Amino acid sequence: MADPILMDGRALAREVRADLKERSLGLRAKGVVPRIEAIVAAQDPASLAYVNMKRKWAGWCKIESGEFSVTPDVTHEELLARVHALNADPLVHGVLIQHPLPAHINEPEILEALGPEKDVDGITSASLGRLTAGLPGFRCATPLGITKILDKYSVDCTGKNAIVIGRSVILGKPMALMLLERNATVTIAHSRTVGLPELVGQADIVVAAVGRAEMVKGDWLKPGAVVIDAGYNKVEGKGHDVGDCEFASCSQVASMITPVPGGVGPMTVASLLANTVESAERV
Ligand code: NAP
Repeated sequence: MADPILMDGRALAREVRADLKERSLGLRAKGVVPRIEAIVAAQDPASLAYVNMKRKWAGWCKIESGEFSVTPDVTHEELLARVHALNADPLVHGVLIQHPLPAHINEPEILEALGPEKDVDGITSASLGRLTAGLPGFRCATPLGITKILDKYSVDCTGKNAIVIGRSVILGKPMALMLLERNATVTIAHSRTVGLPELVGQADIVVAAVGRAEMVKGDWLKPGAVVIDAGYNKVEGKGHDVGDCEFASCSQVASMITPVPGGVGPMTVASLLANTVESAERV
């Protein structure tokens, strides 16, 4: 097959951020300063790295950002009070509650306390319920970013067979619902799925959201499939993270494919910030 089109999430994220910066400046001119607040475990390096990245790009987009670091001495009740205060603060337009919170915190209760109008990460049951019901609301950042990539590359999902590998609440499940909204016929696969390679072989669109380095092989794919790789896996001896799809073999068969890094990842933060600006525009 001809070389596949590389779906460049990094370039798309740059475009999205430029648009957000302009909209933020427009809001500031009207006296509204877009603001996102993060709640993050003080001792989780991966969470801190993600929140730092968010802070960097928020600043670039002229969005104010703050963080509340959940140290071991912060009680569940204190954190709950903090979330209620953020809900009530008219100067805050979005709140990111970064998973995982420390073990002494009842994370589901903290999440459920967040008002859906500030849930710019789209992960509370209210936001997920709105997605399920087809109602307006903030959509989860990573699957939302994936839909933006599909749009950018004019992938028409209508009538297509799509498979989402993974059923997590933040990625696989909402992704499947968003593809369904776009009229794809969707299969959701998971660790108990039998005959995964054959199911993948029937799919026109494959979204891998597993967390297993290079699990999906090129010879599983239907020729010409669109491959979206949300995976981000550390592998000893490799100079960079790798996806859930084996890029060397999948890129021989796919018509379009997202690279790792530089595909889905950059669009996650861009989508979180886009939801924040949208929230500020509603004020
Ligand atoms: P997760 O919560 O660990 O979920 C993984 C899913 O994969 C589960 O549903 C699991 O099935 C399924 N699975 C595990 N082994 C499988 C197998 N052998 N065959 C088929 N399905 C299998 O992970 P997640 O948070 O959704 O993240 C998935 C990947 O995306 C990770 O690599 C993560 O780093 C990456 N990610 C990237 C971004 C980004 O911005 N790029 C954001 C979030 C996550 P069960 O439900 O049966 O256990």
